[in-house]
Amino acid sequence: MLIVQKYGGTSLANAARIHSAARRVTGLAQQGAHVIVVVSAQGDTTDELITKAEFVNLRGSAREMDMCLCVGEQLSAALMAMAIGALGFPAVSLTGWQAGLQTDSVHGNARITGLGNDRIRKELDKGNIVVVTGFQGINQNNDITTLGRGGSDTTAVALAAFLQADLCQIFTDVDGVYDRDPRVYPGATRFGRLPYDKMLRLIEGGAQVLHDRSVEMARDHQIPIEVLSSFTGAPGTIVGP
Ligand code: ASP
Ligand code: MG
Repeated sequence: MLIVQKYGGTSLANAARIHSAARRVTGLAQQGAHVIVVVSAQGDTTDELITKAEFVNLRGSAREMDMCLCVGEQLSAALMAMAIGALGFPAVSLTGWQAGLQTDSVHGNARITGLGNDRIRKELDKGNIVVVTGFQGINQNNDITTLGRGGSDTTAVALAAFLQADLCQIFTDVDGVYDRDPRVYPGATRFGRLPYDKMLRLIEGGAQVLHDRSVEMARDHQIPIEVLSSFTGAPGTIVGP
């Protein structure tokens, strides 16, 4: 059984939340599953990195912006691997390029094109829980690219597709997909299941719970995605065929 779990920025915002995510991950490993963990940058880190860059140069090149923005996820990945280690489980963190995530060259909005090595598979075979930075890869020149805001979801779905995972879970700060933003509209209704096309229409209408390309990729590879809360762990919304 291979499971990909992605944790968003709110779910990793501080040490306590990282530990709580790590406990969820190791719980699965304890049951015998192979686990790949995809992480976003903590809290508002990506926004802060953009601000830092803009203080230096309002029009820094897209290549250097990617070099700057990718560090948020790298920090999260290292911290997550350490938290898993603290629970007594072997873990290794990998950047997008170490994991072989190849993309096109559109800096700031790159598309994943393939998985160029078998590093993740090898680390899983060694018994490691593999933590991969979301939101980034490398292009043909070995330059770092990022996938566009919210792109860590797409990293998770891409890995689930390339490595034929049994399940792809996206842990976030809401307990599923709603017809309206539940943080703004208390009367919003939650979906138990949702077809890919309907999810894409919600995203077109402004829903931010999933990155659009993650849903397209899931549809193209027929991967079901479960969107659920990292705070409760209760069953969420299945976005699927
Ligand atoms: N950290 C990136 C962002 O804030 C990617 C992600 O979280 O999915 O957009
Ligand atoms: Mg997101």
